[in-house]
Amino acid sequence: MNDSNKLLRRTCFNHEARESVAQCQSCSQPFCRECISLIESKMTCTACTSKNHMEDTTKSDNHSMLFLCLIVITGGFVGYFLFFLLASFLINLPDQFHDGSYF
Ligand SMILES: [Zn+2]
Ligand SMILES: [Zn+2]
Repeated sequence: MNDSNKLLRRTCFNHEARESVAQCQSCSQPFCRECISLIESKMTCTACTSKNHMEDTTKSDNHSMLFLCLIVITGGFVGYFLFFLLASFLINLPDQFHDGSYF
């Protein structure tokens, strides 16, 4: 009974004296203006924000490591490819170069 009354009054989950202004889209609890904010176009309470933030940091950390590996591998391949192109170009060059027809 008390719980349903509390729900109808829509008071802040953290502050019983304060009226809630919005519901957290993550945990579905009502929060006052001080406890909730718009994060990435979603109303999110502070608890969920810090939780999501922690998940985000670990995610982005893994992501950046993967990205770095990809950059290094791609860079290595591109570098090797460019070196190979330059080498084959330099090998093919002298014949025409000494022929005089190159310029
Ligand atoms: Zn929440
Ligand atoms: Zn509050």
